[in-house]
Amino acid sequence: SLTLGIVGLPNVGKSTLFNALTSNDVLEANYPFATIEPNVGVVPLPDKRLDKLAEVFESAKTVPATVSFVDIAGLVKGASEGQGLGNKFLANIREADAICQVIRVFDDPDVVHVDGRVDPSSDIETINTELILADLQTLEKALPRLEKEARTHKDKRPALEAAKEAKDILDSGQTLFGAGKGADTVELRELNLLTTKPFLYVFNADEGVLTDEDKQRELRELVAPADAVFLDAKVESELIELDEESARELLESIGQPEPGLHALARAGFHTLGLQTYLTAGPKEARAWTIRQGWTAPQAAGVIHTDFERGFIKAEVVSYDDLLEAGTMAAAKSAGKVRMEGKDYVMADGDVVEFRFNV
Ligand code: GDP
Repeated sequence: SLTLGIVGLPNVGKSTLFNALTSNDVLEANYPFATIEPNVGVVPLPDKRLDKLAEVFESAKTVPATVSFVDIAGLVKGASEGQGLGNKFLANIREADAICQVIRVFDDPDVVHVDGRVDPSSDIETINTELILADLQTLEKALPRLEKEARTHKDKRPALEAAKEAKDILDSGQTLFGAGKGADTVELRELNLLTTKPFLYVFNADEGVLTDEDKQRELRELVAPADAVFLDAKVESELIELDEESARELLESIGQPEPGLHALARAGFHTLGLQTYLTAGPKEARAWTIRQGWTAPQAAGVIHTDFERGFIKAEVVSYDDLLEAGTMAAAKSAGKVRMEGKDYVMADGDVVEFRFNV
């Protein structure tokens, strides 16, 4: 499954956040045979729709989608020079599908900052510079080969042009994702560059920033087009120890409507380019993970490969229409249930039943 790699300078709260991410029992409950690496945190994607569906279908349980975060050993300045930790660090990032940067914005005289002061934009620049330098090295190695290939093979020219353009962007200090050359830039794909991956920023904040909308807007603008999440890692690590009632009180006391991990799970899921569709029956109401833009047969294949191979039709109703009608039968008689064929592109929140041949 797709993963977000958690990176950040030392002492910004990565371990604190990662511990909070690993402390839930969604996996044990629903995937008893799954083996999870110790450096992977799997969190449920909060989805209120599942509880409602379970009511409509009288389902015995709900199964949410999940998002996976990988803890990547601390970034060191000079990582791109490829020494020891640096090499391993870059290799680990290369394996992740998106980069989740934890940035410190909390004030605490007891927690030392590596550069002596809390300065989000300087920290972001430090991290991005390492990633940009690593990409420039990859390109410098690849360019002579691409030039040679383009001389004899016309169809290799777009790859060469894209690589040259990428080098210019990186030379100007921008990430490729930031410059609109993300992971969907086919000509760059084989180079597996780090900064084409989508970025997500987690601002580890204190109460002051969590309730300061102007400050948050400023930081969001700083990292756009990447998504940003604001949370207090220390509070998150306390929340997971509390029962529901006490957790709600703690959140209220710092003016937050929900745990920051919920917002992080949603943002992470979105950053990975994922979406869900829903199924429901007496056994379970469940969210299934697919990529944005997938067709009905591809979506069916997530449940079982036989469903994709033998796909005939998908019976689809939007969650909102179903809830408005109240029952599946009522939705059908209101003409809200559609029969979709193999070219149908799934929409988020489709409630689906697949028809297939075995
Ligand atoms: P890492 O080096 O990035 O993994 O950082 P840690 O998670 O080990 O955190 C470094 C220190 O900062 C620890 O003493 C944490 O308790 C503290 N810390 C982490 N998050 C917060 C926070 O949101 N607020 C405050 N005040 N301290 C925090």
